[in-house]
Amino acid sequence: GPGERPVGRGVALPAGPDLRHFLRAGAAQQPGPSQELPPEPGCTPGAPKVYLETYGCQMNVSDTEIAWAVLQKSGYARTKELAETCNQTLLRVAVVYGRTVSLSVGVGRRRIFDHCQAAVAVCASLVLSSFLGNVHEKSGGVSPGQAECSVDGLCVELGCRQQSWAHPGQDAAWMVLEEGGVTSALPLGRSIMRGCDNMCSYCIVPFTRGRERSRPIASILQEVRMLSDQGVKEVTLLGQNVNSFRDLSEVQFQSVAAPGLSRGFSTVYKAKQGGLRFSHLLDQVSRIDPEMRIRFTSPHPKDFPDEASVLQLIQERHNICKQLHLPAQSGSTRVLEAMRRGYTREAYLELVHHVRDSIPGVLSLSSDFITGFCGETEEDHQQTVSLLREVRYSVGFLFAYSMRQKTRAHHRLQDDVPADVKKRRLEELIATFREEAARANAALVGQAQLVLVEGPSKRSASELCGRNDGNIKVIFPDAELEDAAECGAPGRAQPGDYVMVKVTSASSQTLRGVPLCRTTLSRAAASH
Ligand code: SF4
Repeated sequence: GPGERPVGRGVALPAGPDLRHFLRAGAAQQPGPSQELPPEPGCTPGAPKVYLETYGCQMNVSDTEIAWAVLQKSGYARTKELAETCNQTLLRVAVVYGRTVSLSVGVGRRRIFDHCQAAVAVCASLVLSSFLGNVHEKSGGVSPGQAECSVDGLCVELGCRQQSWAHPGQDAAWMVLEEGGVTSALPLGRSIMRGCDNMCSYCIVPFTRGRERSRPIASILQEVRMLSDQGVKEVTLLGQNVNSFRDLSEVQFQSVAAPGLSRGFSTVYKAKQGGLRFSHLLDQVSRIDPEMRIRFTSPHPKDFPDEASVLQLIQERHNICKQLHLPAQSGSTRVLEAMRRGYTREAYLELVHHVRDSIPGVLSLSSDFITGFCGETEEDHQQTVSLLREVRYSVGFLFAYSMRQKTRAHHRLQDDVPADVKKRRLEELIATFREEAARANAALVGQAQLVLVEGPSKRSASELCGRNDGNIKVIFPDAELEDAAECGAPGRAQPGDYVMVKVTSASSQTLRGVPLCRTTLSRAAASH
């Protein structure tokens, strides 16, 4: 899942299934670093400012959205400028997870916490409590033990403490995003399921985010319908292990048989019975709005059984993106066993071939890899290099292993790969990934790709930037374009528009091209 990157120093290449969950039609791009975010509805001018900075996995992004929704209700305005908050009612929320260890040294740490008299939200409080103790000490705030609250209880907790959050005299609060269950009372932007039952030996997610539990499908559908009404053009169904989603709230489906696992995969837990599964959710979500792109992340490879209706849906529905995240973590069966991933290299490769056969044509694959795990030999490492070559991912999240307390690896294994070896292996993986991603992207040159426009490109105001179906960034000149239906007048593409772009060049992270016409998702699918 997104929690499959709970390791220290790492490189995410490129932004991957990205940090925005929703792209609203007509919405402006994220402002640059020195700009203030546009005022959110309900925020009064002169309201105290909040600065939110998120690190780590997409679940943290989701948690930040929750924190922001709550703060917004309390009358805060959001700023991109840290300095703005410092001399005013200072409130800073850093949702920190995963990369905290690397951020805890040098500049990174100062950047995050030096100005804090702040509220800090973390999802790994036990691991980080000593580190965050500094903030607590400096701020004279409540102790972590006293103030821990659950995400479910967040609204309630913050409601209780609203005064202390809002009063300049009270400059600290401690908010810990560790939830105990999922309720429908959470604000928008929350994930479809939380927690994980897999217990991979390196991973702290099952300890910090708890056991797996899913939101009722009805509440997710209601939310997606609302987003569609607001003109949102892309929704990502986010969860720790989305394809083991199971809505047990509908009693009439309690007796549905347990689904199979992918061939060659196993779990540490007993087969689960009943409930509405992820394929049902995906089916329902994709029917809501034919002009809304649906993505999901992260699935676990074991939950794609051979007869997988999820794969069938990806193939059939034009608005489900032809993109799949299949976190491998290592290319060595020996290391996979030590990681307790529940599959071998061969089973993983068989699944990749099955997926590519089931969904021919454009299907971009992405993956996570950890290098330098306990006991990893040079030969194991070379196996990972060869897996990267064989599968040829378009997007990769590559990390050097850093041991986490409380995990099984911490209790039973030795973090015995020297730091310099980890660094060198990581560099080799990055170089291999880049070469292969450049090849995968080069294969798209000459092809027309449907791009959902996000806004102006970062480097040039005369260019637009968006993403193709495979979630790869596409840059093209901002020009007058015909409307493919020939009913609209020619005009420039706006954020939230779909534009057909002919790819003219490619790098490992970006495609460039010339725009052909504005179109719609349904029209583009019908003409292919
Ligand atoms: Fe992912 Fe394994 Fe961690 Fe679960 S335990 S979140 S499957 S890495």
